[in-house]
Order: sequence, then C-alpha cells, then structure tokens
Amino acid sequence: MIDIRGLVKRYRATTAVDDLSFTVEPGSVTGFLGPNGAGKTTTMRILLGLAAATEGEALVKGERYPRLSEPTRSVGALLDAGDVHPGRSALSHLRAIAYANRIGDERVSAVLEQVGLAGVARKRVGKFSLGMKQRLGIAAALLGDPDVLILDEPVNGLDPDGVRWIRELTRGLADEGRTILISSHLMSEMELTADRLIIIARGKLIADTSVSELAERF
Ligand code: ADP
Ligand code: ADP
Repeated sequence: MIDIRGLVKRYRATTAVDDLSFTVEPGSVTGFLGPNGAGKTTTMRILLGLAAATEGEALVKGERYPRLSEPTRSVGALLDAGDVHPGRSALSHLRAIAYANRIGDERVSAVLEQVGLAGVARKRVGKFSLGMKQRLGIAAALLGDPDVLILDEPVNGLDPDGVRWIRELTRGLADEGRTILISSHLMSEMELTADRLIIIARGKLIADTSVSELAERF
C-alpha cells in the first residue's frame, strides 16, 4: 500500500531522510517511530506530494501522490492539526475541504459524528482545545472515506482520554481494512497502537519489526 524505496531528502545543511526503505501492508496500523528531527514529517510530506524527494521514491498504491487536495478519496492525512483558521467553525472548515474535493455535505455530517464533534460543529475553531483540533484534523482526513491514512503525531499533546480515543479510532479503521501510517516519538504509545513498527533515527532505518517480535527481544 505504501512503498518507500531508497528515499533521500537533503536540505542545504541537513540530510533529513537518508536512504530510507520500508513498506506498509494493507489493513495494518504501522507506527512510524523516531525522536524529534528523525525525518518522520519529511517522509510523510514526500508521500503526500507536498515535498520533492532528492533521491528515491515514496509511493502510495504504486503511485507518486500528486497533491493533497486531489485524491482525498483514497488517501487522507493529518499533518498539522493547529493549521486551521481560528475564526472558522468546524463545520465551515470541513465544508470548504469537502467542496474543494467534490465531496458531498452528508460526509461532513458523518465525519463530525464519527470524531465526536457534531455538538460543537458551529463553534469557532479558535475556541477548540488541542484535542478537539486533532479530532477536526482527523475528520478532514476521513472526509474522502480514504483507504490509506497518514497521521503525523496525532497524539502529541493529548491527555490520556484523547490518546485512548486515537488508539481506538485507528484500530477500528484498520479493522475495516484501512491502512494506517501513524508517527510518534513515543515508544510506549506505539507499542499499544501499532501492529508493526518502523523505527528511524537521523533519517535512517533502525528497525522494521512487528510489535510482538520486538517484545520477545526484551
Ligand atoms: P520529525 O518529523 O521526525 O521530527 P522532520 O522530518 O520534521 O523530523 O525533520 C528532519 C530534519 O530535517 C530535521 O533536522 C529538520 O530540522 C530538517 N528539516 C525539516 N524540514 C526542513 C526544511 N524545510 N528546511 C530545512 N531543514 C528541514
Ligand atoms: P489548498 O490546497 O489551497 O490549501 P484545500 O482545499 O486543498 O486548499 O485544503 C484546505 C485545507 O484542508 C488545507 O489546510 C489542507 O491542508 C486541508 N486538507 C485538504 N485535503 C486534505 C486531506 N485529504 N486531509 C487532510 N487535510 C486536508
């Protein structure tokens, strides 16, 4: 479903991703683990077509993903949940994305319900807590009913209830056959959430393992 092959991303002074290769199997939750600055966001941005690779390629369903705004129907992403105009309501934010992607309004209601924001849909996003913003970001990612979801640090800064909610949501989505790549710098969280772990540091692969194999090594 996701295929990263010899991926390299160099900025002027930094090699953010350094010859990285891994695959993500359909219907799994794959944890993408590494300390801050390891290259997780950069890899996800390249996968989503938001940044260009220096070398190698990052494919979703065998294709280079063109633009975030286009095939929402097959790939959904949460990259920066804080990046929503504070004056907008959750409803108008989602409607704008749905409209831009030719997705019907009934999906907006469905995803608001799914993430538990139906009751605050008309509230300004500026009044939302971080957890509510994360839910809204996930609602946007789910709008196109995607079968691949790419979530960058969705539990960052959440309280235990929010963390549990994300865990249950991702499990449920994977059980429906969706493929999920979820990044985190917290091993403890990924152990509970993911089937497989891709661990990177300084842009390089450190481990590619199932959670149960990893547990046996310790
Ligand atoms: P992570 O998501 O694992 O925290 P990032 O992919 O954000 O890591 O960053 C990897 C490295 O690339 C870091 O050293 C970061 O400072 C650098 N980096 C990321 N984006 C840019 C950019 N636009 N210009 C220069 N360096 C960048
Ligand atoms: P633009 O590409 O001009 O920013 P869009 O209508 O594509 O406008 O997107 C508006 C907002 O919705 C942006 O913040 C974008 O990041 C977000 N967005 C668009 N498509 C998706 C998606 N599939 N998953 C998550 N967020 C999305």
